[in-house]
Amino acid sequence: MERTALQHILEPHFLWFHRHPELGFEEYETTARIRELLAKTGAEILDLPLKTGAVAKIRGRGDGPVVALRGDIDALPIAEETGLAYASEHQGRMHACGHDFHLTALLGAAMLLGEDRENLEGTVKLLFQPAEETAGGAKKVLDTGALDDVDEIYGLHVAAELKPGVIGVSPGATYATVGAFRILIKGKGGHAAEPHQCRDPIAAAAQIINGAQTIVSRNISPFEQVVLSITHIEAGTTWNVIPPEAFLEGTIRTFSVEKLNQVAERLAQVCRGAAEMGGVEVDYSWQVNTISTKNDPALTEFVAETAKSLGFPVGPSTPGMGGEDFALYQQRIPGVFWNIGVGSPQVPHHPGFIADPAPLASASVLLAALAQRALKRLSGKNQSCSKTEVFEQL
Ligand SMILES: [Zn+2]
Ligand SMILES: [Zn+2]
Repeated sequence: MERTALQHILEPHFLWFHRHPELGFEEYETTARIRELLAKTGAEILDLPLKTGAVAKIRGRGDGPVVALRGDIDALPIAEETGLAYASEHQGRMHACGHDFHLTALLGAAMLLGEDRENLEGTVKLLFQPAEETAGGAKKVLDTGALDDVDEIYGLHVAAELKPGVIGVSPGATYATVGAFRILIKGKGGHAAEPHQCRDPIAAAAQIINGAQTIVSRNISPFEQVVLSITHIEAGTTWNVIPPEAFLEGTIRTFSVEKLNQVAERLAQVCRGAAEMGGVEVDYSWQVNTISTKNDPALTEFVAETAKSLGFPVGPSTPGMGGEDFALYQQRIPGVFWNIGVGSPQVPHHPGFIADPAPLASASVLLAALAQRALKRLSGKNQSCSKTEVFEQL
């Protein structure tokens, strides 16, 4: 199929998905539409215990190796402010992270691969992942065992800062290790006129906030990338009462679990110091929500070469402190998470984020080519290990 013809088919689907955003694990309409469109490509939809999302496979010649392509499908609890003619029809929900683009591009890849299945030297699994934003989707998919036989995996994400159609890909980590912490400060409330009779949790919260702001600047090497943000604070009800409790939460982001542990431990010390100083009790807890993505260097080269051979402009991807649960697949399966430019005026997760649909077919072509060529390379590898060839080499 011609790229322009494919673009013509995909655009109306993309607009439909954009108008109908659904949150993680609630992507029922989205999933029904995906299944309907997949059925037309000849892909076989696997029967899995997934309420939303889907995994389908396209089987080429013989058993051969298996390559997975992943697109996520969920939206965000954001009220859209793009003014687009095809803006969200679901109040307070928006495809503000381009997952509508990813899933439409993956459907396009299914169409291309379905058409050309005789030239497929193995099986392609098409993974429409639910709930990426809430970070539970990848685990859910892995738990089904649907990816147990996968040899390599490729996924895409739109990039606001890249011009439409530009491919960004870099080895190593480009999405962060994301941690979340919660701090509950228990003091003793009372009359604002008699602070000496109280143990003020607000004063202690202020100590913790100030202390936390020195961790990155005073305890971390300037050559390391770390972010610590306190994003939520709650305490008190009125002007003349010292409340008994205060609550803080926030996030730590970096590129390794070890570094995250180090920062989280330092924050624990800050909390202990504030507790001692203010005579309050501080309950501090934290967890790793998402690990960093990790692009296999050789496969990164393979993606860049494939993209160049198809005539795409290719550059490095811009690392960011956002998290991506594609990292969970990469923990088990070698793979690459690459970017495609959509030239948005605003960053993802902003109510004004707009993904230009123009490079949809290009994304599909690259996804399909990656699957096709990876299968070819992998089946070549398998053959060279076969007994007859080893015998002939001797
Ligand atoms: Zn997102
Ligand atoms: Zn995203």
